[in-house]
Amino acid sequence: MEGNIKLMREDGLRLDGRSLNEMRPIKIQTGVVERADGSAFIEWGANKIIVAVYVREAYPKHAQNIDRAIVKARYNMSGYSVEERKRPGPDRRTMEISKVVSEALSSAIVLEKLPRAEIDVFIQVLEADAGTRIASLTASSVAVADAGVPMRDLVVGCTAGKADGKIVLDLSKDEDNFGQADIPMAILPRTGKVVLLQLDGDVTEEEFNEATSMMMDAMPRISELQRNALMSKYSIEDGE
Ligand code: ADP
Repeated sequence: MEGNIKLMREDGLRLDGRSLNEMRPIKIQTGVVERADGSAFIEWGANKIIVAVYVREAYPKHAQNIDRAIVKARYNMSGYSVEERKRPGPDRRTMEISKVVSEALSSAIVLEKLPRAEIDVFIQVLEADAGTRIASLTASSVAVADAGVPMRDLVVGCTAGKADGKIVLDLSKDEDNFGQADIPMAILPRTGKVVLLQLDGDVTEEEFNEATSMMMDAMPRISELQRNALMSKYSIEDGE
């Protein structure tokens, strides 16, 4: 990350015209993959991500947990999802994102209700434009709920960071590339429990607090989109 590229306009807005605490537009849909037990599609700015969830008995048998389910999220970027063709296959970043998403989802799922099960969460990034781990997690949570898996809460996340020395919400690709910090965070909104928090770059304690409070303010709006996505599916089915 570099700090000497201009990311703020003269009028105090960001390069894409957003104010400091403005999110990119978000759309969430459920039931997009017929064959999956649950699925979701999220558009978050220019990010486009599909999540398909399958619930089955864990195999081989020795991999089962006799008293609870195992959650396996697999994050995958399509070759055409980024400017330069992404080399196929898992790399360190892909494995890291799969791990943090699996762990965050595990905190929300009532694992004891599904002993011996494996919950497979396939995340396919069709287009990436910064913030994919959080967009993936936010959509995965909806897809898992869509699969009828018992959950304590819907995990919701967003990012904040530092660009041109200012704390901003929901980093754009330029802000992610050329800003001074990137802080993705996810919570369980009912309890406020933090289930994912990463920091790339450097911020002061005061800036960190400003970033987290900006994110906490934005979370309820994203949660509402998640709930609406789940409810609109059921209301259409009820009307049939
Ligand atoms: P996140 O997507 O959660 O912000 P990163 O900060 O690691 O995760 O990545 C930031 C952005 O960089 C991604 O959203 C994507 O647009 C881009 N990116 C990530 N990996 C690659 C890659 N292998 N090739 C090109 N661009 C990539």
